[in-house]
Amino acid sequence: MPNDPVITSVGGQIAPAPSSNDHPDPGDRIHDVVIIGSGPAGLTAAVYAARANLQPLLVEGMVEGGPTGGQLTLTTDVENFPGFPEGIMGPELIQNMRTQAERFGTTFVTEDVVAAEIEQQPISLRTASGTTIRTRSLIVATGAKPRRLEVPGEDELWGGGVSACATCDGFFFRDKHVIVVGGGDSAMEEATFLTKFASKVTVVHRREELRASVIMQERAFKNDRIEFVFNATVARIEGSDGLMTGVVLEDTVTGETRTLAADGLFLAIGHIPNTWLFRDTLDMDDEGYLLVQEPTTATNVEGVFASGDVMDHTYRQAVTAAGTGCKAAIDAERWLAGGAGHIAAEPAAEPETADI
Ligand code: NAP
Repeated sequence: MPNDPVITSVGGQIAPAPSSNDHPDPGDRIHDVVIIGSGPAGLTAAVYAARANLQPLLVEGMVEGGPTGGQLTLTTDVENFPGFPEGIMGPELIQNMRTQAERFGTTFVTEDVVAAEIEQQPISLRTASGTTIRTRSLIVATGAKPRRLEVPGEDELWGGGVSACATCDGFFFRDKHVIVVGGGDSAMEEATFLTKFASKVTVVHRREELRASVIMQERAFKNDRIEFVFNATVARIEGSDGLMTGVVLEDTVTGETRTLAADGLFLAIGHIPNTWLFRDTLDMDDEGYLLVQEPTTATNVEGVFASGDVMDHTYRQAVTAAGTGCKAAIDAERWLAGGAGHIAAEPAAEPETADI
């Protein structure tokens, strides 16, 4: 017997209460805009769509794509989001965005979407509780999960030294020894970045050869704070009182194990975009990132837009996710107003002062 969907909050405190909020049943009408995803992309899209009086419904998943609120809820201090000179905690930043979206009339449903029929109008989504949500336009902001090692100690020490974002957390490892796992461009970039803070960075790669581009490799090889351990995997992460103390490395050739003391471990072994719902319908690249019709956020399916890490292979920052969330809401609004072809043709709108 399916559970009822959890409606965690209903907006409309400033704008006149939208009809869905008078009858907060997500399945009771055809929505103009539904957003899937509650990270910075989804929440920014909600703020813009709500202020455009589109009464958005935001489905914030709980399980499949990671935590409600996205990856930022797993970080501590966020010091690179403009507007917060003293920094802000990741969960607080997300809560602020959520409150802002709610204030203008966004309705939130806390559930995973388990099926999506998007090649029809209205678009139809089914949630884990069996509710059907119908909408004219859809903004996919389901994010991407950093690939995990799936080794003992990883979950327990996540945030206690283990991270997947050097840009976010590198600052906390001043004069420490950190490990970067991976052999691609991200690993080289993160290792090089981390030498701004750490006294020593050890790159652990499972093979003899790096996957990274030559230029990135050379930059890392030239950096005398970076050491490499090849043919090794992390078998276990060790810690004490919630803080990482080191790892157990296993040699992939000999099978021998040894302990390497370190204060931090950064995963750079790729990301997994949360696109399984759209595997058969939306165009994506080889790694599953959604493709959009630049400079818009339109996908190959009419009325479906993508924003945030799910379509961003390159930058993966909270502020870039928020930026594409804004674009997706404006694209959806224009599409609803003018139909296909209207989005790209539309000249950039002069923002009202209050929108800046
Ligand atoms: P990637 O190229 O897929 O590299 C992932 C690395 O992690 C590989 O070396 C892989 O090992 C390793 N790995 C995967 N699963 C692992 C596991 N379970 N245990 C241990 N190691 C594992 O990912 P990426 O480095 O994030 O790069 C993604 C894309 O973004 C690439 O196209 C890259 O060029 C691009 N990028 C560009 C820049 C730049 O130009 N500035 C910066 C970052 C990323 P194997 O090599 O053995 O498979």
